[in-house]
Amino acid sequence: MKAIAVKPGTPDSVHLAELEKPAVSDIPNGRGVLVEVLQVGVDGTDKEINNAEYGDAPPGYEFLVIGHESFGRVVEVGPNVTELKAGDYVTATVRRPGDSIYDLIGHYDMTTDDTYYERGINLRHGYLTEFYVDDPEYIVKVPDGLAHIGVLSEPMSIVEKALEQAYEIQRRLRVWRPKRAAIFGAGAIGQLGALACHLRGLETVCIARTPAPNVKATQVEQLGVPYENTTESSLAEICEKHGPFDMVLEASGNAGVAFGCMEILAKNGVLILSSITGGSNEVTIPGDKVNLDFVLNNKVMFGTVNAHRGYFESAMRTFALAEAQFPGWLAQMLTHPVDGLDNYRELMDKLVGERTALKVFMNVKK
Ligand code: BGC
Ligand code: ZN
Repeated sequence: MKAIAVKPGTPDSVHLAELEKPAVSDIPNGRGVLVEVLQVGVDGTDKEINNAEYGDAPPGYEFLVIGHESFGRVVEVGPNVTELKAGDYVTATVRRPGDSIYDLIGHYDMTTDDTYYERGINLRHGYLTEFYVDDPEYIVKVPDGLAHIGVLSEPMSIVEKALEQAYEIQRRLRVWRPKRAAIFGAGAIGQLGALACHLRGLETVCIARTPAPNVKATQVEQLGVPYENTTESSLAEICEKHGPFDMVLEASGNAGVAFGCMEILAKNGVLILSSITGGSNEVTIPGDKVNLDFVLNNKVMFGTVNAHRGYFESAMRTFALAEAQFPGWLAQMLTHPVDGLDNYRELMDKLVGERTALKVFMNVKK
């Protein structure tokens, strides 16, 4: 079967590779679930992988099949699978467990191992292919009524983890009633973050670089979330107008922004860092001032990566609420489809070149 792959270490090596079709029996103990891939989204990580800045091939392979934002349909299950059946729509988690205590309790997103295994990213083939097989532990059912936005499950799971961790951390305060949230970045994570914060009842503002009007600004504004840009206003001005913020989600992809966010946090506030910055940029920050402010005001900053299946399940609940409150809004994010694995070049070109894309994704079965 066909698969879209890269040669890790070789920039712009995206190509069509040939993989053997997997079988339910590839997974031990009769626990295999064979999934036909329907749609796969791509993001900045795929860009970095194709730039050879990130990612490695599975042992025994010279190529890595990419694609970690999956949506598909179960075609066959092994004799000991009770939780899924043929015909179910599903998505799948990305990371696979290693050996640390966190991996052993299903929290592989919190692994302390040096090596981590991620389908489509590091040491495990991804989903940009026709079929995959896995254990039901890593496969999450997408309700039929949410199938049209199922391809957004993985990015939504990243947001769910970020917010759930923030609330978990803030239990330190015994009482935390966050009022204002700022989201940095208006890409897919920024959009989904704005949605999730707004649905939680927070006064949310989305902050990005590009002046409005633009597609990304219009999309968040449809939620009733204001959009501000850092080209025409300073961070201090934006904070004066909308802040200070009890919670800030940094998803801009720019480490400079991440450190700027430290200065607009309210007392006791929490700053979530979620951007994967594969480069080697350096930033200058007013160290004494920021440090003092963090100390004197009990502020927290934490990083978050990946998501275990519980966060995918949360994503389904947020999707359901979003569809009830803002019907059609999530589907509007699916701006840039590419049909068929043969068109891998078009997929990459859109990912790199389309500045107005909210989500570039492949319809594998077209
Ligand atoms: C993926 C995560 C992954 C991270 C680091 C992100 O693009 O969505 O699942 O853990 O990259 O590899
Ligand atoms: Zn990703």
